[in-house]
Amino acid sequence: MIFELINQDSLYQAFRHLICSGRIGSAYLLCGPDGAGKTSLALNLASMLLCRDPNDGEACGDCPACAKIRHLNHANFYFIHAFPRPKNASDADPYTGLSDEDIGMIRDEEQKLCTDPYYELNIPKANNILISSMRDMKRKLSAGQAEPGRQVVLIHQAERCTDGAFGALLKVLEEPPRQTTFILTSANPQLLPATIRSRCQTLKCHVPPSESIVDYLRGKGLDDSDARRIANLSGGNMRLVRTLSESDFSELDSSILNVWRIIMGSKIEDRWMTMEDMTELIERYVKLEKENPMEFRNYLRYMIFFLRDAQLLAAAPEAVDRIINTHLREKLLGFTQFYPDFSYFDMIGLIEQTLADTERNLYLPALLGRLFLELRLECLNKRKTP
Ligand SMILES: [Zn+2]
Repeated sequence: MIFELINQDSLYQAFRHLICSGRIGSAYLLCGPDGAGKTSLALNLASMLLCRDPNDGEACGDCPACAKIRHLNHANFYFIHAFPRPKNASDADPYTGLSDEDIGMIRDEEQKLCTDPYYELNIPKANNILISSMRDMKRKLSAGQAEPGRQVVLIHQAERCTDGAFGALLKVLEEPPRQTTFILTSANPQLLPATIRSRCQTLKCHVPPSESIVDYLRGKGLDDSDARRIANLSGGNMRLVRTLSESDFSELDSSILNVWRIIMGSKIEDRWMTMEDMTELIERYVKLEKENPMEFRNYLRYMIFFLRDAQLLAAAPEAVDRIINTHLREKLLGFTQFYPDFSYFDMIGLIEQTLADTERNLYLPALLGRLFLELRLECLNKRKTP
């Protein structure tokens, strides 16, 4: 396997058999949640299709074609993803109007996928897959194979196509050039037009089970407790697993505890937290969401995990070995004693609702303001009376 792939063995083997039997289709749609491994599976499939010396359907890893696909620069491989659209853009070539600096940055981002196929492309202002990318691909395809053998088109996060790009893609899918395979990936396939979906064979990538992630992390040298914690926090999203395995947990713990201190209006470094601190916290989160949306959402998820652990301990203090944040045990027990009647169910629901609302691009300062205020009121109302 050329690109690291975690726990998608059945789909990988299914493709291997298709290749061995020469029954490879012209279009596949790989769907499944973020971080399940769709891109990695797609890149591996591309390498299997392009390898000049496959071994039982698997890419050999050594031939010139494998060397090229490893760096995503095989002439028969077209990688289509969201692109920024400059003012003087052309409808025929996605690069027109972009500066050399922009183009270099896009190439760098693409190269990061070669070393880590779970990497999330981070190209500023690249919101949509443009019609120019589709037309460019179509023109190159109809010019014929640059190299002998098959041609492979990977359309990453296909739901990001503009209407024009969908239209252009549909036309190619209706009359696919010979020896060409299209691989579309999408975490939200329901956003693709039915006409596109019906021309693809849909395959579902499931997130790896918690135990596989724990094994994977142990293999990377993490201890059992950290591995379990990451597996639980990630919800199976391997991209999150990677980020979490590189994060500094002690820093994360202190920052999440400080968020609760601000909400509860307790002390940080001998100073009582006020509404001004809460306003400042909201501003910080709004800024973080702009710079690193995934990390921002992780913070909200940590708040949920904190409350779930507290809920578990409140119901059964002896269940200490079942909580995720084992190292926060004392703090969690303190929380349950201080707020014996805390409405965990409602408050967790509120954070989950806020998470869902942030994905719908609602006005973030208002969402966070409402969330933190509700949590603060809950803390004020449920504080144990002396
Ligand atoms: Zn090869």
